[in-house]
Amino acid sequence: MVFDSDPLIVATRRGLYCPPGDFYIDPWRPVQTAVITHGHGDHLRQGNARYILARPGLGIARARLRGNHDVHAVDYGARHALGSTTISLHPAGHILGSAQVRIEHGGQVWVVSGDYKRQPDPTCAPFEPLESDVFVSEATFALPQYRWPPAQEVVRQILDWWRANRERGLASMLFCYALGKAQRLLAELAALGSEPVHVHGAMTTLIEVYRTAGVEMVATTPVPRPNRTEYRGALILAPPSARRSSWARGFGTVATGFCSGWMCVPGGPHQSSVDRGFVLSDHADWGDLVTTCEQTGARRIFLTHGDAQALIEHLGGRGIEAFPL
Ligand SMILES: [Zn+2]
Ligand SMILES: [Zn+2]
Repeated sequence: MVFDSDPLIVATRRGLYCPPGDFYIDPWRPVQTAVITHGHGDHLRQGNARYILARPGLGIARARLRGNHDVHAVDYGARHALGSTTISLHPAGHILGSAQVRIEHGGQVWVVSGDYKRQPDPTCAPFEPLESDVFVSEATFALPQYRWPPAQEVVRQILDWWRANRERGLASMLFCYALGKAQRLLAELAALGSEPVHVHGAMTTLIEVYRTAGVEMVATTPVPRPNRTEYRGALILAPPSARRSSWARGFGTVATGFCSGWMCVPGGPHQSSVDRGFVLSDHADWGDLVTTCEQTGARRIFLTHGDAQALIEHLGGRGIEAFPL
């Protein structure tokens, strides 16, 4: 029985660890060998001796890691020996360079998803379905009320909101994460022929990383110093951390929006602090979590990130054993 053999992934104080490969995945504390699923701050941290990540994510890692690091970029799908395992990285569809980690050892295959989504995203390679014996899935939005509308529908809502605010003589300030979401929005806006967009200075480096990687986005202008009249009618993207900053206040009265999967349900995080929520997420929604877990063919699933009880019960009803990790 495959499940009686030693696990290929265990949860430790430093994060997910693969004993036969002697490596960690997205470790929380410094380790010798870190396989990184993607560049978000809760996955890519400073201080590891060696980093292994998917090649399209190299520019992000270089921008986010301070100083010199031993970073090995590998191609999607290429197989590498690590300890006594064979590992390969496969697109997760989450942000540029995001990867699932496939680990093969002793006749077993485990796949660690990292963060992933199934919606199309012009800024990164689409999620690659993989078969596995054991699947370690994220479960950030693991409740049936999380269902995403098509992204292009949401971007059209944003354009309509921007136009309406402009007619009222207001700037539109849209808060979104500086890595992934901002670039996805800028790419979707480009596809709809949008005019240029203003961006908070903290976003410019990562936007340039995406441009260098060949991602087509609408033209952007950084806003170094706010101004009450100059930006009237403009669309300004800013990171959520800028919401209560003196920078944001410097624009005077503006219409505010927030782009996030959390905007899907009333009373969710951030909702009371903005005028308008837009449901756009870089994670899988409920339906896509269920579909993906089933597609892997895995008989056992471990879930990370968030309260997964509803998903555990749902999968159990379909004959798939699932556990929190
Ligand atoms: Zn992420
Ligand atoms: Zn995450």
